Order: sequence, then structure tokens, then C-alpha cells
Amino acid sequence: MNGRAHQLKVREVISETADAVSLIFDIPTDLTRRFAYAPGQYLTLRVPSERTGSVARCYSLSSSPYCDDRPTVTVKRTPGGYGSNWLCDNVSAGDILTVLEPAGTFVPRAWDRDLLLCAAGSGITPVISILTSALAIGRGDIALFYANRDRESIIFANRLQQLARGYPRRLTVTHWLESERGLPSARVFALWARPYRRHDVYVCGPAGFASSVAQGLGQLRIPGRAIRQENYRSLTGNPFERHTPVASEPTQVVTTAGGTVAPADVATVRVDIDGETHTLPWPRSEKLLDVLLSHDIDAPYVCRESACATCVCSVKQGRTRMLMNESLIEQELARGLTLACQTLPESDDLHIAFDQ
Ligand SMILES: Cc1cc2nc3c(=O)[nH]c(=O)nc-3n(C[C@H](O)[C@H](O)[C@H](O)COP(=O)(O)OP(=O)(O)OC[C@H]3O[C@@H](n4cnc5c(N)ncnc54)[C@H](O)[C@@H]3O)c2cc1C
Repeated sequence: MNGRAHQLKVREVISETADAVSLIFDIPTDLTRRFAYAPGQYLTLRVPSERTGSVARCYSLSSSPYCDDRPTVTVKRTPGGYGSNWLCDNVSAGDILTVLEPAGTFVPRAWDRDLLLCAAGSGITPVISILTSALAIGRGDIALFYANRDRESIIFANRLQQLARGYPRRLTVTHWLESERGLPSARVFALWARPYRRHDVYVCGPAGFASSVAQGLGQLRIPGRAIRQENYRSLTGNPFERHTPVASEPTQVVTTAGGTVAPADVATVRVDIDGETHTLPWPRSEKLLDVLLSHDIDAPYVCRESACATCVCSVKQGRTRMLMNESLIEQELARGLTLACQTLPESDDLHIAFDQ
């Protein structure tokens, strides 16, 4: 079992729409720090399965750490989906679920900026957390474009109405209903977004929606660095199953012309994590996360496919490269961030810190 997994009690289950529920968790006092979260982050839930033991599914926090007492996730049924339907059908108040600590980088870095928020369906979940938080602690203006199938499927309709009434000068909410106007095209979106083109953009919704929004933003020449996107998908790996350490490649040695023997395929890395420092050999063909786990170091991870950014860390010294990167944007790479699950060493001596 992942060392960052904890048993949490579900305090309340709220039916949001016919096919979406919110789960509110009680956090025991000794876990308060571990479950501190930022708006836009998510929890990973263990869903039991008679077929595979369990599956792991990520759900964004819809609560705001600045306004709500308890962390809440909101799950919408995926037609034919296993995990979401299990959670909607089976979880009641008082149940205990196994949950990983909050993770994710879909988080505004500054709260006084103007925000352009685009959500479709269950994509509203991290967006409402960002929106509520920004209204509470920021000073910027916020425009929300929220697409849904029909009026009945709008999650948080009342809450959004109340917020728009409470902050008439700062918040503009535009609902787009597919039942009345079809899917929003790139052109429609660009027309709507034009007044907000200098805002920081956050997008969360199905692939088709995200691609229309991206095209619309492209028509407005909004630079990629101003846009953050959260991609929903189901994990293929399972961070709740016990990790089997990856066998280290045998360390190769080369004999130099002078006859001395030097390790060729192993770098050395100093890793700061959870207040401790470890110095380890880092075989050049092994990803940093695998090296840490094989040394029983409790590094954070969820997907191991570069999508979730749970294993994000900073390269303080040395050069590294990533095999794949689906979640870090240019500015984060420029700040030296990397994903441990995809990182290989390029230099001989490296220093990495899990400080995000
Ligand atoms: C960062 C992030 C945040 C997210 N936030 C949200 C959110 O806030 N709200 C939300 O609704 N969604 C969210 N999602 C999406 C969510 O994690 C799931 O992908 C979604 O709920 C669909 O999962 P599902 O299991 O219902 O469907 P699917 O993944 O489509 O289910 C089908 C899969 O389950 C397997 N399966 C079927 N039956 C079984 C069985 N008996 N045992 C084991 N496996 C089985 C199948 O083989 C298949 O792989 C988020 C995703 C990410 C990555």
C-alpha cells in the first residue's frame, strides 16, 4: 500500500444532480497537515473491485481550503464507467475510504490576477474551488464559461448563482447548454472570451471541449504560457497496490586506457524529501521514482505516466531529462521542475528536492 494512503471517514454524501455526488471527508487531527490542499488539487480514491482488488481514481476537490471546513470531492457518473458508478452507488455517510494525500498542479500561483475559467460537465470541480478561493482571498475579476448537456446536469448551479449575486462586479458566469445551442465551437468561444484575453486561463473538461477552447484561445492569440489545463482520465496503474521494486540494472564499469575502472552508467543523486536527505546511486537507465521506491523512500506518486504531476520535484543541481511530460508547462520546466516518474540523469552529480 502506498505510504501516503490514509483511511478517511465520509462525513456526508450530497446528491448534486441526478448523476453527480459530493463526498465530504472528516480529517482526523493527526492528518490535518497531510490533507492541507490548494484549490485545483485532487484526491485519489481507492475503489474496491472483485475483479482486480481495487482501482484508483482521481477526483478534484470542489471545496475551497479558504472557505470550507472539510475537503470535498465531486464525482460524476461516467456512462459505463466502473469507479465513478461504484462511488455514486455505494458510498454513504460513515463509510471509510482509502484516499491518497492531495496532489496536482492545476493551481493558480497568484490570487490577485484576473481569471478566465472554462469548464464543461464535471470539469467544474477544480474550477469552483479556484473560483470560490479567488473571490475569497484575491482581488481580480473572474469570468466563467460553463458548458453542460442541459439545465438539469449543471453541477453547483445554485452556488454559482449565489456567488454571482454576491460578487456582481468581480464574477461573470456564462452557462452554455448543449440542449439549446449545440456544442460550443472555437469561434463562439473566441467571441465570448475576447474581453478577457489578458486573464490567466484555466480549462477543465472533456477532450472535445478542451480542444474547442484551445482553438478559440489560439484565435485570440492568447499565449500558451497563460493557459493551464486539467485532463481527466482514469489511471491505468494502481498506486494502492504494493510496489514491487524495479530491479536495478547491474552497474556497468568501463576500463579506461590508463587501466583504472570507473562506473559508467550510474550517477549520484542527493534527494531532499520529508525533511530527510538521502544520497543514492542513480543508474542512468532508471527513472528517479523507481530508484527512490526501490530504496524504500516514500516518494509521492499516483499515475507514473507523467499525467498527474504528483511526483513533481525540483532539480537543484545537475541536468536531467524526462521521457514523457503531459503535465508540466514551459514556465515550470524553466523553474527546474521535473516529474520523478519520468526523469533520468544526464550529469554525474545531482541534487533533487521534493519541495513543491
Ligand atoms: C486529475 C484528475 C481529476 C479528476 N477529477 C474528477 C472530478 O472531479 N470529477 C469526476 O467526475 N471525474 C474526475 N476525474 C476523472 C475520474 O478520475 C475517472 O476517470 C472517471 O470518474 C471515470 O472513471 P470510471 O472508472 O467511472 O470510468 P472508466 O475508467 O471509463 O471505467 C472503465 C474502466 O474500468 C475498468 N473496469 C470495469 N469494471 C471493472 C471492475 N469490476 N474492476 C476493475 N476494473 C473495472 C475497465 O477495464 C476500464 O478500464 C479526474 C481525473 C483526473 C486525472
